[in-house]
Amino acid sequence: MTGQWGDLGLPPGSSSFVMQAMVARHYLDGGNYPVDGAKSIAAAIVPVIERNGGTVIFNAGADEILIYHGQACGVRLENGDEIEASLVISSVGVVNTFGRFLRNYQKELGGQAKLAQVQPSSGHFCLHIGIKESAQALGLNKTNLWVSPGYNHDENAENFLSNQCNDFPVVFISFPSIKDPSWEILHPGTSTIEAITMANSSWFDKWKDLPWKRQGQEYKDYKGNISSRLLEVIYQYVPAIKGKVDYYELSTPLSTRDMANYSTGELYGIDHTTSRFQLRWLTPDTPVKKLFLTGQDILTVGVTSSLMSGLLTCSAILTEFGKRYDSREV
Ligand SMILES: Cc1cc2nc3c(=O)[nH]c(=O)nc-3n(C[C@H](O)[C@H](O)[C@H](O)COP(=O)(O)OP(=O)(O)OC[C@H]3O[C@@H](n4cnc5c(N)ncnc54)[C@H](O)[C@@H]3O)c2cc1C
Repeated sequence: MTGQWGDLGLPPGSSSFVMQAMVARHYLDGGNYPVDGAKSIAAAIVPVIERNGGTVIFNAGADEILIYHGQACGVRLENGDEIEASLVISSVGVVNTFGRFLRNYQKELGGQAKLAQVQPSSGHFCLHIGIKESAQALGLNKTNLWVSPGYNHDENAENFLSNQCNDFPVVFISFPSIKDPSWEILHPGTSTIEAITMANSSWFDKWKDLPWKRQGQEYKDYKGNISSRLLEVIYQYVPAIKGKVDYYELSTPLSTRDMANYSTGELYGIDHTTSRFQLRWLTPDTPVKKLFLTGQDILTVGVTSSLMSGLLTCSAILTEFGKRYDSREV
């Protein structure tokens, strides 16, 4: 019953039962996959924002939320540009929002005290594989595979995180290209596989201050070793791809830090412990007027959950400022 614990990133002994039950329940009707991949979510939303007078700025890191007279009034970007706003919604997670974006207001907001109540979720490895043969020719199907070394998931996780030479506690093998009905039309004769497992961010301490892609040969060799171990597991359960892999690349907690700004390479934002769900401040509202939170940390991990958190955040904004903003503007 708990075999899909990897979807919430915390082994059953430490996770919330409700969270585990929701993961199991959501699969009962089958999974969903966006046509043309994850980028189609942004492609669908951006025109809505722009049609309503908004501007979407790409490749621009936010550095700080600006506060004036106790109210959020804009964002300062990493390049120093300041963007004024009548309200600010942060979707980068509570660690980034309270720990970094509001770093100059720690005393007033008790940011560090709040963050001491949550733990980051586990770091992870993800092996991205490209194959020059169609899924159909290889006889692959859509079903996700969960490979565990045994039924005691807590022990498996503990064994691996304390000694990475031990078996991976879980390997989630998925077949994104097969789930995407547009794939064969856009990329005929090819297919992709992803394999995810846990990682401990402390294993990367010796490379953490080196710039992206310049971590050196030792890091490359380390990644090569983890990749080979993951490939071995995949070949065992998906033997049809043996000898057909055209390309693979491993992401580590450092990749997740550098690409998505999760500082310990977290898989899913903050951990889904029982205590997390008792924290009343994990809501769209914040102590700063006109600053709201959205995303997985205020609800739960998951693409659908994150989309629903947007709905919650809009509700919170309309409840507070409904007279001033009609739903179209928000
Ligand atoms: C490997 C992996 C596989 C997953 N598979 C699934 C799955 O199959 N199904 C599922 O439902 N969920 C899956 N998830 C979980 C899902 O991706 C997340 O729960 C969801 O994306 C969270 O959405 P979010 O908007 O809260 O945060 P994010 O998607 O993390 O979005 C936050 C965004 O903020 C940006 N950002 C961070 N800092 C800054 C800054 N300073 N300035 C500007 N931008 C910044 C980041 O680049 C990022 O784009 C997976 C997660 C991982 C890591």
